[in-house]
Amino acid sequence: MSLFFPDYSFRRVYEIPSRFFLEQGVRVLLLDVDNTLTTHDNPTPHREVLAWLDAQREAGLRLFLLSNNTPERVAPFAQKIGLEFIARAKKPLPFPLWRTLKGMGIPPRQAAIIGDQIFTDVLCGRLSRCLSVLVEPMEEEDWGFLATKRRWEKQVLRRYTPRQWQPNPQMEGWELAFCGECGSCFRKGSSQMAGLCPECAHYLYGYPGCGHLFENGRCVRCGWDGSESPYIRKLKR
Ligand SMILES: [Mg+2]
Ligand SMILES: [Zn+2]
Ligand SMILES: [Zn+2]
Repeated sequence: MSLFFPDYSFRRVYEIPSRFFLEQGVRVLLLDVDNTLTTHDNPTPHREVLAWLDAQREAGLRLFLLSNNTPERVAPFAQKIGLEFIARAKKPLPFPLWRTLKGMGIPPRQAAIIGDQIFTDVLCGRLSRCLSVLVEPMEEEDWGFLATKRRWEKQVLRRYTPRQWQPNPQMEGWELAFCGECGSCFRKGSSQMAGLCPECAHYLYGYPGCGHLFENGRCVRCGWDGSESPYIRKLKR
């Protein structure tokens, strides 16, 4: 698959349901600012965006702004909407965000990069092995270098068939939670511990295991996706 093609695309960031992230075991969102959360040089995000951010937080996701801009520009905006941030992110390079994820003990595949530009946001997602989600820019830039970049993007996207997300039928009707240890989502009620999947609850605290039954890379009983924290991997050896 092309380095310039996102894993999924949506029209607006606030049209992405938190279920989309939960089902894929994504627990960190790295969000582009300009034209993803707000229009250029607009200091406040739209009301829909604010409500969406709240919903993601409530679902247990950790939210960061991921911006190539300076801390001076990013920090006030981040504070205003109560988010953490990575400034001077050097998108599309993966290293600054890898450092942050590593500090939290989160593997790249449990993070998603969401943005409106192919040559920075999407490419960054692919190079860093995070989930890459493209949204349409909130407004058209018809001036200067950005307009040129947009024309190049259109060339690239001509060959791209947008991949629309469908909820996983295997998990229909399930209430989902994140496991605080391995990061997989799991079916609420399948574990005796609210914050741990049955697998981690078993290895850490001796609760009965699930007796997983795997289909398409996920247990059809508890939803565990096979993720293991380094600590549990050590315990199992
Ligand atoms: Mg942008
Ligand atoms: Zn777990
Ligand atoms: Zn299971």
